[in-house]
Amino acid sequence: MENYKDLPEMGVVVCRHCERVVETFPSFKVTTFYAICSSDCLEQESGRNEKSESA
Ligand SMILES: [Zn+2]
Repeated sequence: MENYKDLPEMGVVVCRHCERVVETFPSFKVTTFYAICSSDCLEQESGRNEKSESA
């Protein structure tokens, strides 16, 4: 019971845009979930694309 607390944190949540690790969680095996680290991340990326297109 509650053995999951002894598991190594092999689960990671990474940002799908900048691949930064957002969070880790206990898991039996290496598990990767994709998420978005913040709304700022999205805005920065679209802003960067806009810049390179205009240049
Ligand atoms: Zn990000």
